Amino acid sequence: MLGEPCTTLVPGYGTNTVNILRLWRARAAEEFDFQMFDTGNYAQAVEQKIYSENISKVLYPNDGTPQGRELRLRQQYFFVACSLHDIIRRFRLRNSNWNDFPNKVSIQLNDTHPVIAIPELMRILLDEEGLNWDQAWRIAQRTFAYTCHTLLPEALEKWPVSLFEYLLPRHLEIIYEINHRFLAHVRARFPGDEARVARMSLIEEADGRQIRMANLASVGSFAINGVASLHSQLLHDFTLADFGVMFPDRFQNKTNGVSPRRFMKLANPRLCQLITETIGDGWLNDMERLRGLEPYADDAAFRQAWREIKRYNKESLAAFVQYSTQTIVDPGAMMDVMVKRLHEYKRQLLKLLHIVTLYQRLQDNPALDIVPRTFLFGAKSASGYATAKLIIKMVNSVAEVVNADPIVRDRLKVVFPANFNVTMGQIIYPGAELSEQISLAGKEASGTGNMKFALNGALTIGTLDGANIEIRDLVGAENFFLFGLNTQEVMDLKTRGYHPYDWYANNRTLKRAVDAIASGVFSRGDATLFRPLMDALLRHDEYLVFADFQPYIDSQDQVDLLYRDPEAWTRMSILNTARSGYFSSDRTIREYAHDIWGLKPVKV
Ligand SMILES: *Cc1c(COP(=O)(O)O)cnc(C)c1O
Repeated sequence: MLGEPCTTLVPGYGTNTVNILRLWRARAAEEFDFQMFDTGNYAQAVEQKIYSENISKVLYPNDGTPQGRELRLRQQYFFVACSLHDIIRRFRLRNSNWNDFPNKVSIQLNDTHPVIAIPELMRILLDEEGLNWDQAWRIAQRTFAYTCHTLLPEALEKWPVSLFEYLLPRHLEIIYEINHRFLAHVRARFPGDEARVARMSLIEEADGRQIRMANLASVGSFAINGVASLHSQLLHDFTLADFGVMFPDRFQNKTNGVSPRRFMKLANPRLCQLITETIGDGWLNDMERLRGLEPYADDAAFRQAWREIKRYNKESLAAFVQYSTQTIVDPGAMMDVMVKRLHEYKRQLLKLLHIVTLYQRLQDNPALDIVPRTFLFGAKSASGYATAKLIIKMVNSVAEVVNADPIVRDRLKVVFPANFNVTMGQIIYPGAELSEQISLAGKEASGTGNMKFALNGALTIGTLDGANIEIRDLVGAENFFLFGLNTQEVMDLKTRGYHPYDWYANNRTLKRAVDAIASGVFSRGDATLFRPLMDALLRHDEYLVFADFQPYIDSQDQVDLLYRDPEAWTRMSILNTARSGYFSSDRTIREYAHDIWGLKPVKV
């Protein structure tokens, strides 16, 4: 099989440097089996080619079946093998001494998906280059660094040993040897602590033997980082706690950032023009300069100009929504947006319970004075994640009922443009006024949508999770709608014993919303369709939707009040942008370069 490179040039903004992004496509070494073809077996003649090329047809193939899991591991190995060989090819152009490899090369493991690179580099150094184990291991360990992107234990990959025995037997031998030597260190450091040895082992012995890729990454890397301050802390203290004790110096934080060129300049040219007219140019690659906008939050003419741009962006977004969903939305209504991957921990269901609650308030009192809102959802579900698919169905079902009800008189609109992606994001983030960042505290590693919204002048309603905490610290608590349990309170509640049914039974608003959904109000009378979602909340409510429901509703009522004062809202919006320069990806990359890769900027 051949790995075919596909190279994209990535020019810097206003620099003379160009980086290359090299992706790989799997190509069959043989187009087809002529012998087979010649004897009339046309399908079999191309079978091998299809099998080989399937490796790179779909990134992250559905791992819901054994065949899918095997394809995923083959894909991971394929991409890693291609890139490592390319890295080594380039290293050889100017170097002959392997000990220089870590000085010339850093390999950042982006989550656990490429961690097979550690035993692959060992295999090359041992079996192809003839280095001894200690030499090879020293080189590997000084080359790799690991970024963890999650806190969900189920997202830290584990591979069955049996799959490795069959697909990657040599890599399995190398992993066993790494483990053997590593556990000897653990035992030397913590004599008699076999429970610790079992937790830190690269092999999980319970329910079929499995390889723990996060442990392999932690053992084989010189640096380990999380992607927001809270996340790095939780990684060190909980998720990778034993490694935190063993290798405290490896742990770092690198708070994520977003590209100001894409998410401001390209997405929101009018806002950028106003900013440049106000504070001069040069801020797009020196985002701390946005601070220069702060005094203008008190300038009525500037606020007027700021509002007009938001209004323009909302009109563009409304036009896009109409084109994409055939639903007319009023650009004068508050644009309340939740766009992100569909996952239970992100709590799209909490947002839906809020919408149903507002809808029921209008049913009770059609003359109720509420701020008109458009609720915009965007999300994709992993292909094998049935619950997430059902939640998407529910958003669309609630939209169908709310949008058509004459009592609502268009004061609430729910829209879900299909196929949320970065290009769609470029239309959505600039037109948003309220950014929904409502994950259960301790579950969202960082979030980056939260940063895109704040930079484009949306106010955040959010929990103390991921980078929300840093956003709130920077923009000021008075410019952020905070609600919900914090990480400690979540842990305490779970320890005490969480009984979602009691929260439901004791809150009439919540009970009414849940009952309406379960009884089929939003599913054309079908009381079975959304029942499983409501039952899961009533029985387990893994992500404490019910516990955070009332604080969320109360905070949303504060949002409603504040929106009635456009000058105050605009002031907060300006300060959100002015104080979010820290979330430029330039700052993030500078930190990786300085603290992990040991790179100095190119002087031009
Ligand atoms: C920014 C972005 C995300 C990440 O959103 P979060 O709210 O941080 O989860 C996901 N998908 C797309 C298309 C994005 O642009």
